[in-house]
Amino acid sequence: MHSFQLVSREHKKDDTIIQLGTCNIGGRSTLIMAGPCAVENQEMMLELAPVLRNMGVNVLRGGAFKPRTSPYSFQGLGEDGLKILSDAGRSVGMPVITELMDARHCDLVSQYADIIQIGSRNMQNFTLLREVGQVNKPVLLKRGLSATIEEWLQAAEYILAEGNHRVILCERGIRTFEPFTRNTLDVAAVAAVKNLSHLPVIADPSHATGRKELIAPTSYAALAAGADGLMIEVHPDPANALSDGKQSLMPEELAVILKNIRKAKIA
Ligand code: PEP
Ligand code: MN
Repeated sequence: MHSFQLVSREHKKDDTIIQLGTCNIGGRSTLIMAGPCAVENQEMMLELAPVLRNMGVNVLRGGAFKPRTSPYSFQGLGEDGLKILSDAGRSVGMPVITELMDARHCDLVSQYADIIQIGSRNMQNFTLLREVGQVNKPVLLKRGLSATIEEWLQAAEYILAEGNHRVILCERGIRTFEPFTRNTLDVAAVAAVKNLSHLPVIADPSHATGRKELIAPTSYAALAAGADGLMIEVHPDPANALSDGKQSLMPEELAVILKNIRKAKIA
């Protein structure tokens, strides 16, 4: 018996496919989530949403509660940010994803988000995992900064064990000895988790590399390894972004990557 059961391939042989409006997460489709690291203002989100939708992005992302390493960094707009994100998504018919950091905000975030994101730093916040396990919304569970594959799957098990089976796993890089990149994208983990679990797995090359010039190659690598989708940070003016500007692509740069993915039929 594994330390995880419900998430395992032994328990369920077929891929889990999560339906979200008109898109499927898992199975054969490749799901693209994109948007800024943080929701900064309404104008930016209303302008970005149609641009992203028209290039084939499926889910609009944007943080309203930001887990910043320094308490003096921009912490997000909170509920105002949730409203702006949800309005922008609704304006173009796109589902939205945003991070839930605190169990006390679970009802609030659930009112606005179509997918609830559990960030890397909270992967083993078991209270929070149990809480989203009781919510009727898909959950994106990011791999912890230094979590093993088994610990990550056990964290997902907490959510399924509470009754919520709509979990998407996200490989977002792990901490290694290499400082050139922000983290190290564990491509092998994507393939390994696809074997070990029936849950959809996506990759986040933005947080994995921290460098915009590495987003394209690592996106292709993750999809080639079997990822069911990508989460990529995009900002209209990366040099002035309030967070993660160095790893943020301009919308037109993402469009090129998405075109290449389709052309090469990696997905
Ligand atoms: C994010 O996606 O906004 C984020 C903070 O990512 P992570 O939890 O992977 O650091
Ligand atoms: Mn970010």
